[in-house]
Amino acid sequence: MDLHAFRAEARSWLTAEVARLRVEFRGVPFTDLVLRRTFEDRLCGAGWSGLGWPAEVGGRGLPIEFIAAFLEESARAGAPKGVNLIGHGILGPTLLLSGTEEQKQRFLPGILSNTAVWCQGYSEPDAGSDLASLRSRAERDGDDYVVDGQKIWTSFAHIADWCFLLVRTDPAAPKHKGISFLLVDMKSPGITVRPIRQMDGGQEFNEVFFDRVRVPVANRVGAENAGWGLAMAAASFERATYFIPRLVQMEEELRDLVAESREIRRNGRPACEDPLIRDGLARSFLDVQALKLHARAMLAAAARHEQPGPEGSFIKLLWSESHQRLLELALALLGPEAVLGPEEPTAQRRRHWQYDHLWSRAETILAGTSEIQRNIIGERVLGLPR
Ligand SMILES: Cc1cc2nc3c(=O)[nH]c(=O)nc-3n(C[C@H](O)[C@H](O)[C@H](O)COP(=O)(O)OP(=O)(O)OC[C@H]3O[C@@H](n4cnc5c(N)ncnc54)[C@H](O)[C@@H]3O)c2cc1C
Repeated sequence: MDLHAFRAEARSWLTAEVARLRVEFRGVPFTDLVLRRTFEDRLCGAGWSGLGWPAEVGGRGLPIEFIAAFLEESARAGAPKGVNLIGHGILGPTLLLSGTEEQKQRFLPGILSNTAVWCQGYSEPDAGSDLASLRSRAERDGDDYVVDGQKIWTSFAHIADWCFLLVRTDPAAPKHKGISFLLVDMKSPGITVRPIRQMDGGQEFNEVFFDRVRVPVANRVGAENAGWGLAMAAASFERATYFIPRLVQMEEELRDLVAESREIRRNGRPACEDPLIRDGLARSFLDVQALKLHARAMLAAAARHEQPGPEGSFIKLLWSESHQRLLELALALLGPEAVLGPEEPTAQRRRHWQYDHLWSRAETILAGTSEIQRNIIGERVLGLPR
């Protein structure tokens, strides 16, 4: 299939669907989970899921350039994010690589059609950056494991049908070696989900408690105690394309911010004439350009089927920190309006800057904190001593 034709088809579908959503959900923000689920269901129904998965399992077998083009077009069209990103981006590829035939047949169709939403049960109260010190236990009892423990920050657990879980199956083994990877039905007796309210007002992640939850041994992916390798491979699947929608979004935010700086007035003059605002905008422009070059290099390496290297840490660090800078600049530009609550009519149009700024605090934490990225760059890119 021709990439240009594919891109044009994607653009026209996405533009039409985003317009339809705006009419059907008038006034509802694109962060709303029902809206997001509706859009993702339609996207899957129209055959835009599993773009890179093999045709034998219902995918479209397209090369990575096509996936990148689709993500770019989604971000340009202003499409909402899905709620099953973890199913599509992490669990699906993990099963394709390491699942049994039976597991692929059983679980992949639900992801492709979006009828099964997945969450990722890795982090625990005392195991985040140091994930391998996780303590949730799974003990063998006949054809089942019995799981006890607690997970935290589990995104979408409150709406998920399934969870892929890292649990300790051999407490005596060195910490990376006694972990297994289980697929758990969220309706199993013994699971309690407690939502956590975020500072942006939303509620996307949860605490999840497991009290003697029975999980069939047939739901283990890979060998017993080989879960760590699976989790590490899973973390690398989206690395080459992860930043594409985020960079398009950042470029569009910068464009909007330049427009705001012309409109907003300071001391009777347009804010864009303020040297500090101009400096901030120029800095963000350079950040975006640098990020685009890095992202392009990473995508080209993935298209050549090269293994992703530690330079992904560099782009994660630069993206998350420069995005926070851009949104801090937005609040500085808005001035007192930045702190108005949503009930203020004057704040309505520019309310999203406040929300985006609050959400961006998570970006230097999730998928490896900035400190952890700096450690990786120091040790593995620059070769500094530990
Ligand atoms: C929005 C969001 C969604 C998330 N979704 C999920 C999910 O779906 N499933 C899931 O399992 N997890 C999820 N997480 C959890 C995320 O993976 C963890 O927050 C992250 O790994 C950091 O762990 P922690 O919060 O326990 O912080 P800690 O590891 O306790 O870190 C605390 C502080 O210490 C610093 N630190 C820790 N170790 C070192 C070190 N060796 N050197 C220098 N500094 C260090 C950290 O950088 C940080 O500043 C999510 C997090 C966020 C913010």
